[in-house]
Amino acid sequence: MKHWNEECAVVGVYGVENASWLTYYSLFAMQHRGQEASGMSVFDGEKIHTHKAQGLVSEVFDENSLQTLKGNIAIGHNRYATAGKQSSSDAQPLYARCSLGEIAVVHNGNLTNAKALREKLTSEGSIFQSFLDTEVILHLIAKSQKESFEECIKECLKIIKGAYCLIFVLKDKMIVARDCYGLRPLSLAKISTESGEGYIVASESCSFDLLGAEYIRDIGAGEMLVFENGKMTSMQIFTPRDFKCVFEYIYFARPDSQVFGKNVYAIRKEMGRELARECKISADVVIPVPDSGVPSALGYALESNIPFEMGIIRNHYVGRTFIESEQSIRELKVKLKLNPIKEIIEGKRVVVIDDSVVRGTTSRQIVKILRNAGAKEVHLLISSPPTISPCYYGVDTPNRQELICSTHSLEEVRAYVGADSLYFLSLEGLARSVGGGGYCQACFDGRYIKDCFGESEE
Ligand code: AMP
Ligand code: SF4
Repeated sequence: MKHWNEECAVVGVYGVENASWLTYYSLFAMQHRGQEASGMSVFDGEKIHTHKAQGLVSEVFDENSLQTLKGNIAIGHNRYATAGKQSSSDAQPLYARCSLGEIAVVHNGNLTNAKALREKLTSEGSIFQSFLDTEVILHLIAKSQKESFEECIKECLKIIKGAYCLIFVLKDKMIVARDCYGLRPLSLAKISTESGEGYIVASESCSFDLLGAEYIRDIGAGEMLVFENGKMTSMQIFTPRDFKCVFEYIYFARPDSQVFGKNVYAIRKEMGRELARECKISADVVIPVPDSGVPSALGYALESNIPFEMGIIRNHYVGRTFIESEQSIRELKVKLKLNPIKEIIEGKRVVVIDDSVVRGTTSRQIVKILRNAGAKEVHLLISSPPTISPCYYGVDTPNRQELICSTHSLEEVRAYVGADSLYFLSLEGLARSVGGGGYCQACFDGRYIKDCFGESEE
């Protein structure tokens, strides 16, 4: 199925012993960003070793595999299919040996000119082993005539277009690069261990907390970092043009992360307060759709003075459910995950808050289970605007026809989900909640950046 999948997670650890263990824990903390495959490459002082497979971090790595991954530079990746088909050759890191030596890379994002580049490279004789955009990057680096990896990477970055957070390990060097729009998140922290001090770069700062690493800052849009000889050097490769993914705040990121320099939980709560200011409802109880609706529902309850209750309980142990195409099975999946508490719902006028509507399947099911639990009224409030456009920047969205808010009016969507009322946070309310502009919100307003990104490869 095509669904909005969570994005990938990347991590790089530089300059500390047992870099593989730190990478492993970091991937663990970022499991929510991708559950399809996981992997790691480690430089042991002589060679780069890679271990990767399909599955969760806990399934892919065990003590034995981590023992074989010794070294003080490591990069890791959790994958949730975006570009590419599902196979272990599509797991990351990707590794290659080229004239300058060994190289391994992890990538979060999506290149908008990958198809054209792949066709060109193939016509020139390149042989591809995966369906990943990332392999295009390796080919471009391998073909570059520049004299150092750093220069080869810079040359490659000038050719590729789209969204990327890249972390390379090149023998005793680690290089990090972020696209000029800063679309996907990437943060930097300092880490101290018994063996000394080093650095960690990761998609989300929740992984720093787990390791006791000290958050320094975000990697800038268009910035490249080179870690070499125990030091970090920063260079600005492209002029930064803020266009950060606002959906990180709405759904993807963990609430305990600092994303784009701001705490996700606080922003979600503010979205709930904004909703309450925009849409006042006489109700007895405010309940979230767990988990991502919780901070917004709290914000709504606080601002509206309506009691907050956890009226729906989530089963956290459903794990990965096989991806299905049948609508009825999709509905069963929602029921497997979420169950209402009748004592909280029965006879009440309920405001229920979720983070987003994609196809409308979840909302319809939620309203149904609340009515079955005896709700007198069900008012569905969404802490983001209607999703009307697909994402081309690394989030695997359904096509436009499957986005219910793209093909139906608000009243039609309300009737479909079966709520007494339905309200979406306004674009202005969203901007207020996240503290201003500088964000991509193309899935809500259809405004893509044409010179760098586009719909050409839909
Ligand atoms: P749908 O049932 O298709 O309308 O999907 C909406 C639900 O999917 C909401 O409850 C969201 O919490 C959740 N959701 C939104 N974005 C994503 C995503 N990228 N991956 C998985 N679930 C998502
Ligand atoms: Fe994020 Fe939406 Fe922009 Fe994609 S289109 S990068 S999901 S805000």
